[in-house]
Amino acid sequence: MTVDLQGIGMTSMRTRKRLIERLKEEGISDSRVLDAMMQVPRHIFVDEALAHRAYENTALPIGYSQTISQPYIVARMSELLCEGEHLPRRVLEVGTGSGYQSSVLSQLADSVYTVERIEPLLKRASQRFKLLKANNIRTRLSDGNWGWPEEGPFDAILVTAAPEQIPQELLTQLSPGGRLVIPVGVDGAQELRVIEQTAEGWEVRTVEAVRFVPLLSGVVR
Ligand code: SAH
Repeated sequence: MTVDLQGIGMTSMRTRKRLIERLKEEGISDSRVLDAMMQVPRHIFVDEALAHRAYENTALPIGYSQTISQPYIVARMSELLCEGEHLPRRVLEVGTGSGYQSSVLSQLADSVYTVERIEPLLKRASQRFKLLKANNIRTRLSDGNWGWPEEGPFDAILVTAAPEQIPQELLTQLSPGGRLVIPVGVDGAQELRVIEQTAEGWEVRTVEAVRFVPLLSGVVR
């Protein structure tokens, strides 16, 4: 894989910086998240033919009917994950896809665990993690409806594909005080929710309407 990590023209630092400005205008205010997104070269997470569009604030196809999430959504979900005094130390992501969101999280958390059900996507994402020397990301080919029980509990879990109902297994893998950020609902009518474990029980917040690919079952090799 020959990759221009630095980027030129439409993939340059200047273009990336413009995206960060745009995210600020759209209400992203956590400087830790904005810094993390400034660090990660989004253009290496899409096909070369699409690299010139990597810093547009839009979702892009990554093959296998999947998409790399829109930068605004990556920023928003990361912000929700990092709310509060402390950054989460151990994070689980369900839906590795291109690996972009995991790479942003790897700048914020101590360890990132990410699971994907489509093997070729996971292989490509793993190559990108190597290239970026993101040594704090662990990957697994599996159905993320079941989380990653051997590595749990997690301070935060982020799901980047939408189930119709929240997979209960994920709640059991949260640490006390932990937080689940997840899009829920059927195609076209999903909402982003934050579920937190408090002393009084589960607290659920609805953040905004979103559009994600569906959370599916099983593994594709
Ligand atoms: N976070 C990704 C977004 C990818 S789109 C990125 O930054 O690029 C959502 C991903 O979730 C797809 O790759 C899809 O294959 C995966 N997915 C869907 N259902 C899943 C499941 N049950 N377990 C693991 N991954 C799943």
